[in-house]
Amino acid sequence: MRIGIDLGGTKIEIVALDPDGQVILRERAPTPKNAYEDTIRAMRDLVLAADSKLAAKPSVGAAIPGTISALTGLVKNANSTKLIGHPLDKDLAAAIGRPVRVANDANCFALSEATDGAAAGADIVFGIIAGTGVGGGVCVGGRVLGGAHGIAGEWGHNPLPGPREDELPGPVCYCGKRGCIEIWCSGPALMGQFERQTGRKLTATEIADAAQSGDDAARAAMERYYDRFARAISTLVNVLDPDAIVIGGGLSKIEALYRELPPRIEAYAFTPEGPTRIVKNMHGDSSGVRGAAWLWREDEIARGLAG
Ligand SMILES: [Zn+2]
Repeated sequence: MRIGIDLGGTKIEIVALDPDGQVILRERAPTPKNAYEDTIRAMRDLVLAADSKLAAKPSVGAAIPGTISALTGLVKNANSTKLIGHPLDKDLAAAIGRPVRVANDANCFALSEATDGAAAGADIVFGIIAGTGVGGGVCVGGRVLGGAHGIAGEWGHNPLPGPREDELPGPVCYCGKRGCIEIWCSGPALMGQFERQTGRKLTATEIADAAQSGDDAARAAMERYYDRFARAISTLVNVLDPDAIVIGGGLSKIEALYRELPPRIEAYAFTPEGPTRIVKNMHGDSSGVRGAAWLWREDEIARGLAG
């Protein structure tokens, strides 16, 4: 059995998976609002309660919104700022009496979908989480490719490639740079672009639905959106040439993405022989927590034991 924890902004989720990936336990608790120590305690309580229900002490992995710096051992790049600067893996390990493996939530998403999700069996998998932000994670051969600085896959903070004149210098991103992919391709970005063009306030999926029903303004907004997203993804394709790209997050519900993106990406990338495979996630919101549980499967893969 393996335990996975997904530390989100509003809730902490825990699951236990059996060796086949079946969920044998799932619990949720609200994320404490204030002190970092309260968050560690809440995670500890969930793990210890799971241990006693399962009458076992399974391995524990955790998905966090951020990453642990290889240099300092402390959390960095977290949008939940109370985590920043803490050795979360060591603190949780001390609290629950076993080692804890921690990875960025987008990496856990990619690992989940590469292990037994929409990209099962694919060798190089890029996972994109497109929702309130745009994040990414990479898996190769069933293992997370974290990177020397723990930021592999953070392509949402690359500048939008091939900017048109009217896309320069680009809006300011919270990371301090201008014209990031995230600031062009997130859900709020699409909503904002549409509202400025039309004065209408629709969600991203409502804009996509309106485009499907023949609304000209919505169709134009989506055309621009597909074009930008495809430009952004084409640079990934040139660097990694993934066997599959899996999309998660709120925008993954836009079914037209899987039809509209591949030919555009093929046109922008230095490709190949046919478009890159772009698929919708299989495990939805559960991918982060499932991938966290699978973090300990990597050792078995390394030893050639994983089935
Ligand atoms: Zn940025």
